[in-house]
Amino acid sequence: MARIGLDHVRHAYGPAKGRQDYALKGLDLAFDDGGAFALLGPSGCGKTTLLNIISGLLAPSEGRVLFDGEDVTALAPEARNIAQVFQFPVVYDTMTVRQNLAFPLRNRGIPRARVGPRVDRILDMLGLTDLADRRAASLTADLKQKISLGRGMVREDVAAILFDEPLTVIDPHLKWQLRAQLKTLHREFGHTMVYVTHDQTEALTFADTVVVMTEGEVVQAGTPQELFERPAHTFVGHFIGSPGMNVLPAEIEEGTALVGGEPIALPGRVSAPRGAAMSIGVRPEFVALGDHGLPFKVLRVDDLGRERIVHGTLAGHPLAAVVPEDTRLPAHPRVAFSPTSLNVYADDWRIEVGP
Ligand code: ATP
Repeated sequence: MARIGLDHVRHAYGPAKGRQDYALKGLDLAFDDGGAFALLGPSGCGKTTLLNIISGLLAPSEGRVLFDGEDVTALAPEARNIAQVFQFPVVYDTMTVRQNLAFPLRNRGIPRARVGPRVDRILDMLGLTDLADRRAASLTADLKQKISLGRGMVREDVAAILFDEPLTVIDPHLKWQLRAQLKTLHREFGHTMVYVTHDQTEALTFADTVVVMTEGEVVQAGTPQELFERPAHTFVGHFIGSPGMNVLPAEIEEGTALVGGEPIALPGRVSAPRGAAMSIGVRPEFVALGDHGLPFKVLRVDDLGRERIVHGTLAGHPLAAVVPEDTRLPAHPRVAFSPTSLNVYADDWRIEVGP
């Protein structure tokens, strides 16, 4: 296992005249040894490009890739000792499930006596024991992808395991089960794992640290709780959560935010940078809907069973609130926010609120 570092990494697929020509615009990141990481972001934000730079399938236009401090930028994928699991199954159809799992070990000359127990362990963890002697060709795409996951996990000596949207072909009802199995495997084997996905549920359930990307840049790397409670950028607020964070344009006057002239108390004093567009962010889960606070105009209510999402406007700005199913909506509803649930943004970046 290894600590993976990215030092000023940039990448352009073609000639680059300006910043917009880079698929990765400049990354400085560290994936700690033994950690479970997710790279999360919308299609085209550069996740696969970054993964391929780590594995060595792609050489970055600029910058260095470091494994345990050693510069591996010029090393071929084979020399980096990385296991990679792709979106679609990579298995040998003519081999049995067991032979497929043993292949990465046999290929590296691991003694037969060590291969057997390790393969049995992986078969067991992935629930494939009963199929061990079946030919891969006869299996469904789901099961073939399970074999691919197993092949990625079978070697003990890899520097890291990289997963590129590995659950895409998996049936939705099996996905939660495989995510849980991957997490268990990570806990048990302690490999450094980097998992690429555009699905926030996958990222937040798998990873201890989620790296959120947009347009070739990292906007925040943090725990699921940090991303939820303290989004560093309004993009993270929108992208994580369902519905995402409410962002309301505001004027800031020391300890108060004015939204359309309505005062909202902040948790402390804020010195707004000169000329910056200011806004406040509040998660729908932290909006109290009732008889107190500022006037709220209800536009639509979505009933999700255990809870309801109430969509409306505050001073003309869209605002969503998540409320328990049995909440009574007053004739003239009002909304209130606990100051500690508020985040303040200057030009979309979160700024600290003073005491
Ligand atoms: P997805 O989830 O759709 O795979 P992604 O976040 O993994 O997206 P990348 O595939 O890394 O994003 O793509 C980042 C940018 O680089 C995109 O604008 C994409 O069009 C561009 N790109 C990716 N591969 C190539 C390539 N081989 N040649 C030219 N441009 C490319």
